[in-house]
Amino acid sequence: MVEKNFDCIILGAGPAGLSSALYAARSGLKVALIDTSAIGGAPSNYCEIENYLGFKKIQGYELCERFENHIDDFKVEKFPYEEIQNIDLISPIKKVTTLNCVFSAKTLIIATGAKNKKLGIKGEIENIGHGVSYCAVCDGAFYKDKTVSVIGGGNSALEEALYLTKFAKVVYLIHRRDTFRADSIIQKRVFENKKIKLVLNSTPQEILSNEKVCGIKIRNSLTNEINTINCEGVFPYIGLKPNVEMFNAQLRQDENGFIITDVTMKTSADGVYAVGDVRNTPLRQVITAVSDGAIAGVEASKYLMNEQEKLVNT
Ligand code: NAP
Repeated sequence: MVEKNFDCIILGAGPAGLSSALYAARSGLKVALIDTSAIGGAPSNYCEIENYLGFKKIQGYELCERFENHIDDFKVEKFPYEEIQNIDLISPIKKVTTLNCVFSAKTLIIATGAKNKKLGIKGEIENIGHGVSYCAVCDGAFYKDKTVSVIGGGNSALEEALYLTKFAKVVYLIHRRDTFRADSIIQKRVFENKKIKLVLNSTPQEILSNEKVCGIKIRNSLTNEINTINCEGVFPYIGLKPNVEMFNAQLRQDENGFIITDVTMKTSADGVYAVGDVRNTPLRQVITAVSDGAIAGVEASKYLMNEQEKLVNT
């Protein structure tokens, strides 16, 4: 097995990981940027980003490409599509074992992000790829002139519903309450869009299919009435779940599994930091992920300097 030594390992190459890499590398650290998938992270699949300061409107993939181009000027070794087998966060030397390599470093930054939560209803998992999708940008074009349902009342659901109107003839937006938590600017656009039909106070019960999705059964929470909406696609956007399974509870997490950090992004393990959507943060945005990464990159460098001083003084 090949062994590779670094000053800092960054797990996850989305905006938080890329920003951590930039700041750690600019502080002079030898950085490994590891991802189980491509470089760029979740925003590569977002339609348009309108709230990243300095860019009134930019495609998600374009912003991520710019982030990657920026770190390419520095000493960052990129390892996309790694299959991670084991992670030791507790020993003084942190180790990440992949199929072909053992990566080691005294500091490690977790930027593994979060994934879409599942509804957990009949017909959901069985129909992934047959009408159930968690990525409107990837699959929206398959629904040209068709009818789709989007579930949820947050920014993701409303933004993706708007995106789907580019293709679908009708987009049902199914939400369990009668008020939305999405930003008001997005709500206004949804209310003004004639293709979006609001289905409020309604909870999904079952996704119906006949080889492919053909409808969704919903229950009205005020009347208990069960109704079926005929549609060819269902896009659940009901919140996020942190990507933490690989850490086997080595770190302190909150009740929803998000990693707890202090203001310096430090976790409960020495030399380990968490940034972006995976940590318990009050705001999950590209701009806050990037800000977390800047703090963690610099803190990792300070930590290594302190460790060095301790060695010199003993
Ligand atoms: P979210 O804000 O947590 O919203 C999840 C929505 O799903 C809520 O409306 C919730 O209903 C509903 N829900 C939860 N569980 C449900 C269930 N079992 N059945 C039916 N409905 C359910 O999640 P999100 O929209 O994915 O956003 C995640 C984070 O990313 C947020 O911080 C968001 O602001 C951020 N984000 C930002 C942008 C942007 O700024 N452009 C874009 C996308 C996401 P209740 O409202 O009743 O709880």
